[in-house]
Amino acid sequence: MNHEELYARACRVIPGGVDSPVRAFNAVGGTPVFVASGKGARLTLADGREVIDCCCSWGAMILGHADPGIVEAVARAAAKGTTFGIATPAEAELAERLVAKIPFVDKVRLVNSGTEAVMTAIRLARGVTGRDLIVKCEGCYHGHSDGLLVAAGSGAMTAGDGTQPASAGIPAPIARETLVVPYNDAEALAAALAAHPGRVAAVILEPVAGNMGCVPPRPGYLRAAQEAAHAAGALLICDEVINAWRFRLGLWSEAAGIAPDIVTMGKVIGGGFPLAAVGAPAAVMDALAPTGRVYQAGTLSGNPVAVAAAIATLDRLEADPPYARLEAMASAIAQGVDAAAARHGVPLRVQRHATIFTPFATDRLPIADLAGAKACDAALYARFFHGMLARGVYLEPSQFEVNFVSAAHTQADVAHIVQAAEDTLAAL
Ligand SMILES: *Cc1c(COP(=O)(O)O)cnc(C)c1O
Repeated sequence: MNHEELYARACRVIPGGVDSPVRAFNAVGGTPVFVASGKGARLTLADGREVIDCCCSWGAMILGHADPGIVEAVARAAAKGTTFGIATPAEAELAERLVAKIPFVDKVRLVNSGTEAVMTAIRLARGVTGRDLIVKCEGCYHGHSDGLLVAAGSGAMTAGDGTQPASAGIPAPIARETLVVPYNDAEALAAALAAHPGRVAAVILEPVAGNMGCVPPRPGYLRAAQEAAHAAGALLICDEVINAWRFRLGLWSEAAGIAPDIVTMGKVIGGGFPLAAVGAPAAVMDALAPTGRVYQAGTLSGNPVAVAAAIATLDRLEADPPYARLEAMASAIAQGVDAAAARHGVPLRVQRHATIFTPFATDRLPIADLAGAKACDAALYARFFHGMLARGVYLEPSQFEVNFVSAAHTQADVAHIVQAAEDTLAAL
């Protein structure tokens, strides 16, 4: 099937032909691709072409596509009923498995998406502090709820003009409840908190930012942010929807030496299904209904199919942690692409944190914040993206995203990616 025809058909009945904006290729131009199937590290596109996948469903597919063990666990669960709207034993098992790996979390609640997890985290923070304001970092993306689509990254970056709020339909009074500071700038954060004494419920950030491209925290930044939040009587929310179980078995916060008051996780822990979680110490989590007065609910929350996929994924990650291999592959890709770009005099550099990476169209790293990411050459990235796609590599269709490798990627895939970059950059 031809992508132009599929796209035209989808556009007649779906706005922009897609169910999530970045899929429409707005940042890189051209006709978006459609996927027929995925297996391991590879996608078969609807036009029959095969590509190596560096999106991995935005990091969710850490074991690769259609992993036989996960497929079997899901099929077994589905055969016993896909949702009841009544508690099931497996939910407590998954919660135990998550809590066991997070020293500063006693309880979690399972939800259906990262957006929901963050919405709940924000409401909890407001509920327990009795305050309204939230401070977020420019370029961090925390899902598509009203108050967090202010100076948000990811698709909200390329969809709007980057000014706040990043979406129409957000009432000004709600946008005003969100204060925005640059990422990696603890002084600006402290100043924002000082300007609103006693009014900030929470500071929310991605410990390793992944929605303005891969932007790691500067040494000391996360600790300083935690101190500033606590000094102001605000909670620290770490949004680890990408980070959790992506770098290690557990959260990046712990590795960074901080202990956030509330955490959110999604993507990897959902095993490829709509599942995410919000977690905190018991005193905070028990503020949620039915024990507390902060309301939150979900018809499909903790459904047995998603929970089975999540548990099967955690089983596999714990039995054979892939992180060192993922990092070695990401590093080899980064080095290979950088070397090819240097050889051909193309201003493109890969910024990487452990297992995730972004090729930025710039000759100067590091990029530390949204302003740095926005200064990169979007047109050059678009040409790089399409060159790679033509050579069988699906990168993220925007520089304001991170690329992923899965446990199903091989050395041969890495070599293919590096060779595709060599050929693409030579042609630029
Ligand atoms: C993807 C993402 C979200 C939103 O998760 P969805 O499942 O898409 O709703 C929130 N926060 C971060 C850091 C993310 O990367």
